[in-house]
Amino acid sequence: MRAVVFERYGEPAEVREVADPEPADHGVVVRVEATGLCRSDWHGWQGHDPDVALPHVPGHELAGVVEAAGTRVTHWRPGDRVTVPFVCACGTCPSCAAGEQQVCERQTQPGFTHWGSFAQYVALDHADVNLIAVPDDLSYATAASLGCRFATAFRAVVQQGRVAAGEWVAVHGCGGVGLSAVMIAAASGARVVAVDVSPHALDLARKFGATECVDASRTQHTAAAIRELTGGGAHLSLDALGSPATCAASVNGLRRRGRHVQVGLLPSPTGATPVPMARVIALELELLGSHGMAAHAYPPLLELVRAGVLRPDLLVTSRITLDATPAALAAMGTAPGAGVTVIAPWS
Ligand SMILES: [Zn+2]
Ligand SMILES: [Zn+2]
Repeated sequence: MRAVVFERYGEPAEVREVADPEPADHGVVVRVEATGLCRSDWHGWQGHDPDVALPHVPGHELAGVVEAAGTRVTHWRPGDRVTVPFVCACGTCPSCAAGEQQVCERQTQPGFTHWGSFAQYVALDHADVNLIAVPDDLSYATAASLGCRFATAFRAVVQQGRVAAGEWVAVHGCGGVGLSAVMIAAASGARVVAVDVSPHALDLARKFGATECVDASRTQHTAAAIRELTGGGAHLSLDALGSPATCAASVNGLRRRGRHVQVGLLPSPTGATPVPMARVIALELELLGSHGMAAHAYPPLLELVRAGVLRPDLLVTSRITLDATPAALAAMGTAPGAGVTVIAPWS
């Protein structure tokens, strides 16, 4: 098969022929019809993720067709249209037994712990626990865009963030996950303040339901601007980019007893990110993480997508080939771009 491969962290990836994957006895091989390009792929390529071993094939947001199933797989067979959370659970550890597969103790992640979906085929473990059926009327590109960012945003806003109608929600960083969060928060009846350094990203945020926008390239005082716009601060705020500056601005833009959800990854040479903890204490803020979403939690999300309440298809702003992927991966570092880029490995 053809795949995007890199041999060294941060050095150009290339498209080449590699061996087709084989399914584990509990796993499947999926023919990849669409796969999203995410900033986490860039982090993996840069060597920020200790799970990534070389040589490596990135890619973790995917949809496609089951090509082959292992002997112990009972729910799925070749020809099924499927997608998968980026956190693939083991199905048997205490976290899985508690229904919290998104924090599975023995999780695998395509594109991180093993070769991913920037390829014509990808192997996925524990298929009965992890695969999600894609309805016939949902395109592969849309299904792939759910995989990491939309599902992560859904869990961050609805489940971890406990958004309520009428609340103010601030979203820092309006790439794929941020725009997803804007759309989900607005659909939940919240008033949304979008923050980004790109006027184009803010235009998209407005289109997807943000009522207020803050251009962080034009102010040193993002948090103060949010507090001003929201009459004292957001009830819920997400760092959807993942940087010390956006994390701090998110926490500092909250009102008393507000909730911060960290969604964007925060790689740091020291392994630590400064957080304004004095404010956390004085205002009784909540700090929450959000790490994907378990396969069993997808049906309510898919129902809202089918009903047209949520439109992840509108987030897909660019479609590229496998051959164009190495350059697009490299560009995620400096210009993550607005919206979601979807790769079609067979085009
Ligand atoms: Zn991702
Ligand atoms: Zn588990």
